[in-house]
Amino acid sequence: MSVTRPSLRASTLCIHAGTHADAATGSVGSPVFTSTTYAFPNPANENLYPRFFNTPNQRVINHKLAALEQGEAALVFGSGMAAITTLLFAHLKPGDHAVFQADLYGGTHQLASRELTRFGVAISFCRTAEEFAAALRDRTRLVYVESPSNPLLRCVDLAAVAQLARARGVLAVIDNTFATPINQNPLLLGFDAVIHSATKYLNGHSDVTAGIVVASDTIIQRLRECATNYGGMLDAHACSQLERGLKTLALRVQRHNENAGRLAQFLQTHPAVARVNYPGLPGHPDHAIAARQMRGFGGMLSFELRAPQQVDECLRRLRVVRPALSLGGVESLVCVPSRTSHRLMTPAEREHAGIHDGLVRVSVGLEDIEDLLEDFQQALAPTPAAPNHV
Ligand SMILES: *Cc1c(COP(=O)(O)O)cnc(C)c1O
Repeated sequence: MSVTRPSLRASTLCIHAGTHADAATGSVGSPVFTSTTYAFPNPANENLYPRFFNTPNQRVINHKLAALEQGEAALVFGSGMAAITTLLFAHLKPGDHAVFQADLYGGTHQLASRELTRFGVAISFCRTAEEFAAALRDRTRLVYVESPSNPLLRCVDLAAVAQLARARGVLAVIDNTFATPINQNPLLLGFDAVIHSATKYLNGHSDVTAGIVVASDTIIQRLRECATNYGGMLDAHACSQLERGLKTLALRVQRHNENAGRLAQFLQTHPAVARVNYPGLPGHPDHAIAARQMRGFGGMLSFELRAPQQVDECLRRLRVVRPALSLGGVESLVCVPSRTSHRLMTPAEREHAGIHDGLVRVSVGLEDIEDLLEDFQQALAPTPAAPNHV
């Protein structure tokens, strides 16, 4: 295990933190340990097994993410949902109450409203720090936030939520997938646990599903006990791929931030666009909060077409940007939340949540920004543009 001082900066930690240097060969990169069993006695005097979450390649990721989020410890899982499920079931029991942010990732919303309630956990949904404060009850054990949120990129005052949770002895949890540890470190703002779907920016190449929780040693120890029973581990090959992706995280996120900022500005002045949701824009309702707690505003944005019927034509005409779900990869993707993540809501519920039919979400990738601007320019033009194959 390479030693990484906390004073090292994020770009350096992305590359070096947690690397399993192999003494026998002097390998610069971590070898892949595919063995599922390890002989006794071993140096750690510990029973290593993939489902015990303690094999060498899992530990590489745990150390790297703990360093990047500036937490004591971390645990890597087989998916973002495995991380979320394990954390929630490790801390909640029948009769407890949990408060969730209203505009939650679809899978987490289903987990809370369908599964937690089935096990006798009461839940509430909130949007602002004020609403979180008002929702706390005697039986509240956990608050759960996403900031920036999907797909409107709303930001919650994280220090305020963490403070009110701490005052009541309530566990404060955040899904930091959209921000990444490069743009936002919620543990430093008082949160107890940070979750990532590593499927997105952390891996960054749309070819691994993984999840991670970063927290104190105490929380991670408790989580590991449950995780061993629940079984949602990540295998060595996927850990190795994720490690490779993480080495360029800081570099990638910097470019995601720049590209999304440029695209947001471009769309904002486009006559076909009614509104752009990007926390980096001064006109975004939560810009001040975002500017206070984030170092960069991320690679996600959404925009609203003036004519919702233009959505299909826009998606059909895009040539560089692909219509697809998921996010956080090197490639730019668009989707229409009213038809995908929010399709199970009634039209009235969607209207209330601000998810209109003309809303398009963009995961802004790492292509040359001029190519992205030209692609949206021709896709949003009033008459079809001449073919321009990529
Ligand atoms: C994708 C995603 C998840 C779920 O992660 P999986 O890796 O797909 O299980 C959770 N939260 C957010 C914000 C996500 O984008």
